[in-house]
Amino acid sequence: MSVNQQQNLDQSHLPRIKPHARTRWAERTPADRPLEVAWRQAQPVDAPAARCSYARLYQPYDALFIVRDGWLRTVLHNDGRLEKDGLVLCTTCDDLIDPIMHDTCPTCDAEQPASQTSGRITITRRGGDR
Ligand SMILES: [Zn+2]
Repeated sequence: MSVNQQQNLDQSHLPRIKPHARTRWAERTPADRPLEVAWRQAQPVDAPAARCSYARLYQPYDALFIVRDGWLRTVLHNDGRLEKDGLVLCTTCDDLIDPIMHDTCPTCDAEQPASQTSGRITITRRGGDR
C-alpha cells in the first residue's frame, strides 16, 4: 500500500463543502441522494492530476469528490482525465483543465495564470479570495 493510500484511509470524515461542489453534484449526477451520503460510500482514490489533497470515487455515478485545503471543492465525472498527469483545476470554477490545450477554462472561460502552464513547476497561489 502506498503512503498516499494509507493517508486516504484516514480521510473518511466529511470535509467542509463548497457550494460549488453541491452545484456540480446536482449537475453531474442524478443527485438522488445527498452528497454527504455518497461521500461516506465513496472509495478513496489517487487522482494525481487534480493536484488535490485527496479524492474519493463514488462508483455508482463515477463521481469524483475533490478535496483540497480541507474543502470539498468540486465533483467531477471520472472520465479518465484524472489518470493523466499535468492537469490543473480552474482557479475560478475548479473544473479540470489541460493547460497544454487550454489557456482559458473551457467551462467558465476564466483565464488561467501563466504559472500553471507547466506541469513541472511548483505553483504558488496568490492570496486567495475564497
Ligand atoms: Zn473554469
